[in-house]
Amino acid sequence: MGLIVQKFGGSSVANAQRVMNVAKIVTDTYKAGNDVVVVVSAQGDTTDDLIAKAKEINPMAPKREMDMLMSAGEQISIALLSMAIEKLGYPAISLLGWQAGFLTNSVYSSARIKKIDTSRIKNELDNKRIVVVAGFQGINKYDDVTTLGRGGSDTSAVAIAASLNADKCQIFTDVDGVYTADPRKVKNAKKLSEITYDEMLELATLGAQVLNNRSVEMAKKYNVELEVISSLNPIPGTMVKETAKMEKMLVRGVTKDADASRISVIGVNDVPGVAFKIFSKLAAKNINVDIILQSVGRDGTKDITFTVGVDNAAEAVKAVESLPFIGDAKVVRDDSVAKISVVGAGMETHPGTASTMFEALYNQDINIQMISTSEIKISILIDEKDADKAVAAVHEAFFGSE
Ligand code: ADP
Ligand code: ASP
Ligand code: MG
Repeated sequence: MGLIVQKFGGSSVANAQRVMNVAKIVTDTYKAGNDVVVVVSAQGDTTDDLIAKAKEINPMAPKREMDMLMSAGEQISIALLSMAIEKLGYPAISLLGWQAGFLTNSVYSSARIKKIDTSRIKNELDNKRIVVVAGFQGINKYDDVTTLGRGGSDTSAVAIAASLNADKCQIFTDVDGVYTADPRKVKNAKKLSEITYDEMLELATLGAQVLNNRSVEMAKKYNVELEVISSLNPIPGTMVKETAKMEKMLVRGVTKDADASRISVIGVNDVPGVAFKIFSKLAAKNINVDIILQSVGRDGTKDITFTVGVDNAAEAVKAVESLPFIGDAKVVRDDSVAKISVVGAGMETHPGTASTMFEALYNQDINIQMISTSEIKISILIDEKDADKAVAAVHEAFFGSE
């Protein structure tokens, strides 16, 4: 007996039969004597479809209106799941983000949760109801609906688990755990029984969309153990926690992030303060910069190249071009790039990791455009057309071909 938070992603609630399947999992947990809070995402590709509808009308739609639109998907799922639970003979109540007490900041489309007023959820649990909460959404201080960024339902679930001090937080999805690479793309990817918060955070940030990176950050902060588990195949999943069995692995996983855009500022004056002014301008616009490369100055000029998420690329180019000192320097954007990364705490003490990765790419004749490293990851930027081949080759170099 305890309090369990269960989150179900879009594919787990994609149609009526899947919704009934989720209702069965949830009510089985409830029948076993637990209090249950369920967090659900929009059905199937609903969020993508809503975004496509907006683009047809206004590709530069205000982010506030995008949030109003995108939050509609989860509203459908919570109502359908609650009906499904009632059909199985159990009491359920659906709550939108604001009804569940999610207060966020006002950064529309990637809002951060400031606090959760859990009184309504607790009330409903006291009345022995299964509480079904819309993931991915909240409300800001102006009473406007906000969304938490793509994949944000994972964060909603972890936030509820942390606020209610839940005994378990299970993230149900369409694969049965976290693998050494995307199991849909890499045939011989291996399932991990455990992984640390830090490694999972890197994997998630670098493109393994199985968990949203903010959810992992929050799970680490509040020490919420997560289980990533299949909604269709009832076998143990992957535990995400503070310490994990190493399983003799130097590298834990290989990821691809194709949503990167490379921006080069070519021929800017080689004087102090240029990098400061460019990156503070981008920070002021809430644009996250990833890999940065600056060339050695020559003939009084230098080049600064950096990557941003493709959604921010147009705004980033505009922001840099607006800087008064840019003058004759050229700002060039290239979206046909992908970032490939290897992640693992073990690599800290093994100097050969980078060369193994680079050799695998060389053997495939793949050119590296940028490199960035930290204690537990190595990332490289390459041409997007080579990305899947690169992931397969790098994965094979570290994990073999079976
Ligand atoms: P949900 O809709 O349940 O939130 P997502 O599509 O966001 O599901 O995440 C699950 C998907 O993540 C899987 O279908 C899989 O293709 C992908 N994925 C990418 N990298 C990994 C990985 N290392 N391990 C497991 N799944 C991964
Ligand atoms: N429905 C939202 C999305 O597609 C949130 C989520 O699935 O977690 O990004
Ligand atoms: Mg997801």
